[in-house]
Amino acid sequence: MRHNEILKQYFGYESFREGQEELVNSILSGRDTLGVMPTGAGKSVCYQVPALMMEGIAIVISPLISLMQDQVGALVQSGIRAAYINSSLTMNQLYAVIRNAEAGVYKIIYVAPERLDSEIFLNLARKIKISMITVDEAHCISQWGQDFRPSYLNIPKFAAELPERPVMTAFTATATQRVREDIIRLLELHDPFSLVTGFDRKNLYFEVRRPSDKSADLKRLITAYDKDGRSGIVYCSTRKAVEEVCDKLTQGGFSATRYHAGLSEEERRVNQEDFIFDRKRIMVATNAFGMGIDKSNVTFVIHYNMPKDVESYYQEAGRAGRDGSPSDCILLYSGRDVVTGEYLINKSYEESELPPEIAEETRRRDLKRLRDMTFYCTCGDCLRGYILRYFGEKAPMECGCCSVCCSDSEETDITVESQKILSCIFRAGQRFGVKTICDILRGSGSEQLSRRGLDKISTYGIMQDASEKRIRRIEERLETMGYIIRTEGDYPVLKLDNSSLEVLRGNVSVKARIPEDEVKKKKETLVYARDPKLMDILKKLRQKKAAVQSVPAYVIFTDASLADMCEKRPVTPEEFLNVSGVGDVKLERYGADFIQAIKYYCDGNPSEEPTVSKAPVNRMKTSADRKKAFAELEKGIADFSPSEENVHITALISGIIAAAGANVSAANLRTAVFEWLISEGYLELCPDNEGGTRKGITARSAEIGIFEEEVTASSGKKYTRVLYSTQAQRFIADNMGNIGKFAGHL
Ligand code: ADP
Ligand code: ZN
Repeated sequence: MRHNEILKQYFGYESFREGQEELVNSILSGRDTLGVMPTGAGKSVCYQVPALMMEGIAIVISPLISLMQDQVGALVQSGIRAAYINSSLTMNQLYAVIRNAEAGVYKIIYVAPERLDSEIFLNLARKIKISMITVDEAHCISQWGQDFRPSYLNIPKFAAELPERPVMTAFTATATQRVREDIIRLLELHDPFSLVTGFDRKNLYFEVRRPSDKSADLKRLITAYDKDGRSGIVYCSTRKAVEEVCDKLTQGGFSATRYHAGLSEEERRVNQEDFIFDRKRIMVATNAFGMGIDKSNVTFVIHYNMPKDVESYYQEAGRAGRDGSPSDCILLYSGRDVVTGEYLINKSYEESELPPEIAEETRRRDLKRLRDMTFYCTCGDCLRGYILRYFGEKAPMECGCCSVCCSDSEETDITVESQKILSCIFRAGQRFGVKTICDILRGSGSEQLSRRGLDKISTYGIMQDASEKRIRRIEERLETMGYIIRTEGDYPVLKLDNSSLEVLRGNVSVKARIPEDEVKKKKETLVYARDPKLMDILKKLRQKKAAVQSVPAYVIFTDASLADMCEKRPVTPEEFLNVSGVGDVKLERYGADFIQAIKYYCDGNPSEEPTVSKAPVNRMKTSADRKKAFAELEKGIADFSPSEENVHITALISGIIAAAGANVSAANLRTAVFEWLISEGYLELCPDNEGGTRKGITARSAEIGIFEEEVTASSGKKYTRVLYSTQAQRFIADNMGNIGKFAGHL
């Protein structure tokens, strides 16, 4: 099979990305090879494809246990026989791997560099045919790389002791000339083919902010991401900061966890898994976290403090958007970060056990790197351009997708747009958050809007051509100018300040620098939200599959793959194979179930725009008995007197049953009440914290006195529950006839 067939069949990708094919070809020709590619560019494929095509077993030397586990997990999912050898294996497991390796079961084995010296491994290596040695994160061999690992220095010795020297390959994301030279020299690569691919990650948006209050700024950012269900990392420079930031976020009700070297190994493991398995959305961590974290659905990386150098920054920020989705890399800068950075460098110099001249050289180098990093934050040039030039690449003066380029736009008159936004907030009753306002203005076809009647108001769709980002930006400006007030609390809503009347009447004009919609095109290629409902269904299915096998969800399919399914809606195996990231084995394993889910969804929603299904979720079966029970209820309900307190549904139902003396089960009645309320638009199904659904209030709930309350369970878990006021209780009782009809006759 040819390399592109392997790529398709096992990895499910149509074509190689930049640089991949050249690297694969070089390896296949038997030449030592060095690949330098930014994080997320797809280094693994470069050695995994040849590994499958060559005779024997490829040994991949990898610095971190989590990295190996992830890689092996993903390979096995794709039907590739792979294993790892590291200190996490028990003796029995180790022997099993060795036996299998000797029997030729695997194509790829990952090992930690420390294992290379062990007698057991050396014995194995002498017995089997090794097709290739790949050194992942190869900058670890250089003291000029940011994470030097002395055990990497043993690799050439190991290779030399093999009966036959296999082809040697090395991969890294560190691009400096010096590190590259070190890798070639210290790994003793023979006349290597080296290729440095473009370091530009086009799907990343870069931003530097200088907030006066970082904590408040972070909260604002996270709130926005959280609304969209996005997952991300917040990097802090110290353990203390990690603790503080994580505590604040958790207290704010966000799903966050933490990671730093001061935690027990057990806690680090648990927290890391919580994040990887999507049980926690936000990871707050020091730079100890992340190397080898392959989680593909990280869509933002926020640096709460400036990191020590551009290499670290780009590597950490690069953990966003690995599956190619547009993602944000935001750095919260303050002058203090520079002071802290210098302090840390000097401290490590004082504690260094290196010979003094080397220590001093290292110190100077680190201070220079810190200065370069500071310059990134302060110079005011295109951020992407700065990074690319730092890594020795040519870059245009403006990229159009960073905070500098975006803010450089001309000051323009945005009075008309401002009026549209203000008027929309007013027409919608000053009851909604920015997301809903954007949806109305853009004329989103979402069922939420139509259910609430928001698609009937006069401002619906009047900003169809503006991106959500632009509307949000203008809204933000209007907020800073004091025309809009955002309420505090978990569900902030936008209200108008009296001063906004002047804008609405056209007495004052509004001017601001609002970047043009450069980002819009990129965002549009993101299919994510095209069909959020189907995406949601597919995500749930993926979660189920992942849970059964105890693997992270993205190992089954990346978000990008699911998005592609939403776009292509495959309903046959052939069509399913066309989805990016679907190879033969994934088709076989998951094709049927995903196809079924897609078909089912499409059948229920034949039109482009999914319509609201009126069918109740859990409809009661029509039966004479039930009709009778409801008839009794309707009669007996006259005796029901609502509680003066706000009650929960359970209390309401048992109150009704007790008063009416009807022969109906509480569960059935409750279902009927819920379904009727939903069908009337007084309640709706919305996602809960656990990945399931719950009943939530709608724009109409308040009309009849239904509202929500946030409660903390004794376990400390927060959840939202719906409460029924006296008015709501009476309303439901009065409508018992309709509820009965709905339940019985539909
Ligand atoms: P790196 O090791 O360079 O940081 P990875 O090897 O983890 O990056 O790849 C990043 C992501 O890109 C993974 O989700 C991977 O499956 C995906 N990917 C790699 N090669 C391709 C390709 N040719 N087409 C589409 N996606 C790819
Ligand atoms: Zn730029």
